[in-house]
Amino acid sequence: MATATKSRQAADDTILDHLFRPMGVDGVYARTHEYENVVDALQRLISRHRPEGTEVFRFPPVMSLRQLEKQGYLNSFPQLLGCVCALHGTEADVSAAVDRAKNGSDWTSETTSADLVLSPAACYPVYPIAAKKGPVPAKGLTFDVAADCFRHEPSKDLDRLQSFRMREYVRIGAPADIATFREQWMQRAQSIAEALQLPYHFDRASDPFFGRVGQLMAANQIEQALKFELLIPVRGEGGPTACMSFNYHREHFGKTWGLRDQSGELAHSGCVAFGIDRLTLALFSTHGLDVDAWPRGVLEALRLD
Ligand code: 5GP
Ligand code: ZN
Repeated sequence: MATATKSRQAADDTILDHLFRPMGVDGVYARTHEYENVVDALQRLISRHRPEGTEVFRFPPVMSLRQLEKQGYLNSFPQLLGCVCALHGTEADVSAAVDRAKNGSDWTSETTSADLVLSPAACYPVYPIAAKKGPVPAKGLTFDVAADCFRHEPSKDLDRLQSFRMREYVRIGAPADIATFREQWMQRAQSIAEALQLPYHFDRASDPFFGRVGQLMAANQIEQALKFELLIPVRGEGGPTACMSFNYHREHFGKTWGLRDQSGELAHSGCVAFGIDRLTLALFSTHGLDVDAWPRGVLEALRLD
């Protein structure tokens, strides 16, 4: 093993011992009390930045399979999606599947879709809810949403989880309005990172679109500056990690869900996403494992003083 890889592994092992407990699968961890205290403090800090008039929703970790299909997720990120399956049918059908398990055979092949997926991002369920409200008002709509998200990318790296928490502010309105929203949030994110004394930089980014066509979509996303990320060095080596993202969806969700303003123009949307687990990990890896020994200013910003 190369020296850099070894020392990164050692740092990860120390963090793992203190903050997490393995649950038998890469990228899925039990979190300790100490870690969750920081998660809660961070969530409250983000809530203190909630703009007036924001509507709050907390979503379950699952969402409608049909809704996700309708917005085109399967064309973009099929490789990341986790589907919920269950045993359907008569008592005899279910018993037959259980018998397979008893015989050491694969019983999961007997399951079929429960019409649910594990939510891959916190904001997806909000657009159909917004559409039900009728025409988008001239002042636009703002939401504060959160969910436990799933992406199928097993990894031993502690900043690449399969199940992680995402918090988002979402804006629906006219294109210029979304641009202002994103600009303001990039400034706020900067002041949050500074208050937390986290080293950071911004960069244009793209999403991990699937396949060859996906490469073109990713290039287009970068060219049109549709996504920015705030990156923080979370691990000793291996490059900084995206801890927040600032996304402009143009009229994608407006078109999918029929979100229009009073004059019938398609609404645009954007969101700022906080990777709660990555930000928490960034705090521990920057300031150390002993929260009481963190810089005074950081504890004050988190109101943990
Ligand atoms: P995005 O939708 O921009 O890919 O994700 C939004 C935010 O969720 C990211 O900026 C990041 O902080 C967080 N996130 C995305 N993927 C992962 C992951 O694999 N593990 C963790 N812990 N957070 C992630
Ligand atoms: Zn979003």
